[in-house]
Amino acid sequence: MASRASDSPIVTVPDARVLDVERIKADFPILSERINDKRLVYLDNAATSQKPREVINALLEYYRKMNANIHRGLHTLAERATSAYEHTRTHTADFIGGVKPEEIVFTRGTTESINLVAYTWGEQNIGEDDEILVSEMEHHANFVPWFQLAQRKGATIRKLPITVCGHLDLSDIDNLINEKTKLVAVSHMSNVFGTVNPVKDLAQRAHAAGALILTDGAQAAPHMPIDVTDLDVDFYAFSSHKMLGPTGVGVLYAREELYRDMPPFNYGGEMISQVGFDKVTFADLPYKFEGGTPNIADVIAFDAALSYLEKLGMENVHHHETEITRYALDRLSEVKGLEIQGPQDTSERGSAVSFTDKDIHPHDISTYLDYNGIAIRAGHHCAQPLMKFLGKVATARASFYIYNDRADVDALVEALIEMRRYFGV
Ligand code: PMP
Repeated sequence: MASRASDSPIVTVPDARVLDVERIKADFPILSERINDKRLVYLDNAATSQKPREVINALLEYYRKMNANIHRGLHTLAERATSAYEHTRTHTADFIGGVKPEEIVFTRGTTESINLVAYTWGEQNIGEDDEILVSEMEHHANFVPWFQLAQRKGATIRKLPITVCGHLDLSDIDNLINEKTKLVAVSHMSNVFGTVNPVKDLAQRAHAAGALILTDGAQAAPHMPIDVTDLDVDFYAFSSHKMLGPTGVGVLYAREELYRDMPPFNYGGEMISQVGFDKVTFADLPYKFEGGTPNIADVIAFDAALSYLEKLGMENVHHHETEITRYALDRLSEVKGLEIQGPQDTSERGSAVSFTDKDIHPHDISTYLDYNGIAIRAGHHCAQPLMKFLGKVATARASFYIYNDRADVDALVEALIEMRRYFGV
C-alpha cells in the first residue's frame, strides 16, 4: 500500500539563508541604547552602519597589544601591526572576488578613493574634448571629482539620464558612450533609489568604446556578494564604515596594470623607493598610493567586519535584505500620502528606501520618528542632480541592514501613520 503523505516523517529543514536577527542584534551594543525612552530602531544604514562587538574589540586590541607604526619598524610590535594591516588587505582582496592584494589601496573612504583616481589617472588621461559619462543618480562623491577634473581639463561631462521609476535610461546609450568617452562613472547601487545598476553591461559597453569604468560600490559592497573581475570594472570604490567597519577606511580596487601607469596621489614618507636631491623614485604597488602613516587601527579592525559578514554569508545578507525590503515596500504602501521612490521590484533594488509625504517635510518626518526612537535620514542625500530630476529638495530615507527585522519596519510604519494624525493631515 502506498504510504500517505501523513505517514512520512516531517522534516523541517531550516532555511540556511535566513539570518538569526535576534542573535545578530545582540552582537551590536549600541542597539540596546534607549532613544527618547524608546527602543532604538536604527534605519540609517546607508549613511553608516553600526559596529559589532568584534570590531569594537579589534580596535581596543590593536591599541592594547600592537600599537606601532607599520612597514618601517623592526621591533615585534611593528611586525605585529604590519602583519595585521597587510592581512586586512589580503582579506579585502578575497572579499571582492579574489583579486591580487596589491590591487587594494586603503584610503579614508569612497570619496577619497574616487578623488585618488581623478587626481592621478584623470590628470594623466583626460584632455580637452574628452567625455566623462556620469549618471544622474550619482552621489556627489562620484560627480564632483569628475566635474572638477573636466573644468581643469576642458573636458565634457555627459549625463547618463534616469527614469521616473529610478532606473538608468539606457535608450540612448550607444550615443552616450562613444569614441570620445574616456570614463563611465556609475554607482553599483543608488543611495537614494536603491536601484542596482547593470554595471557589467555598462563595463562591456565602455570597454568596447575604449573607455574605462569606475564603479562607486559604497552602497553595494555592504549588501551583496561582489566580484569585481566578473563585473569587469576598472575601478571599484567603497567604505568600511557602511559595512560594519570603522570610519576613516576606504578601499580602492583597480586593475594592476592601471595602477602601474598611474602617478602617486600623496607624496611623502612610505610611498618612496629612493629619495635624493637629484631624483625621487616611488615604492611598488600598493604602497605608492599610501603616502604617510595610514589609518592603521581602523584598517586592522575592518578585518573583523569582513569576517563578521563572511560568517553570515553575503548571499544570506542579500537574501535577508531583499525580504525585509519587500516587506517594507508593502507596508509603506499602506501609509496614506506617501510617495515611494525607486523600483518596486526587489530583484532590481537594494535596501535603501526613499519616500516623501505629500503634506509633511522630510526633516519633520525624521524629527518625529526620532521622538519614537527611529533613526532615518532626511535631506538631499548628497545627490542634488537626482533631487532636481525628482523636483524635490529632499526625501526621507529608511535603509535596512542585517540587524533589522519586520518589527523595525512595523515600528516605522506605525510611527508614520501616527505622525499624520499628529500633524492633522
Ligand atoms: N557613494 C555613495 C553611493 C554613498 O552612499 C556614499 C556615502 N553616503 C559615498 C559615495 C561617500 O562615502 P564616504 O562618505 O564614506 O566617502
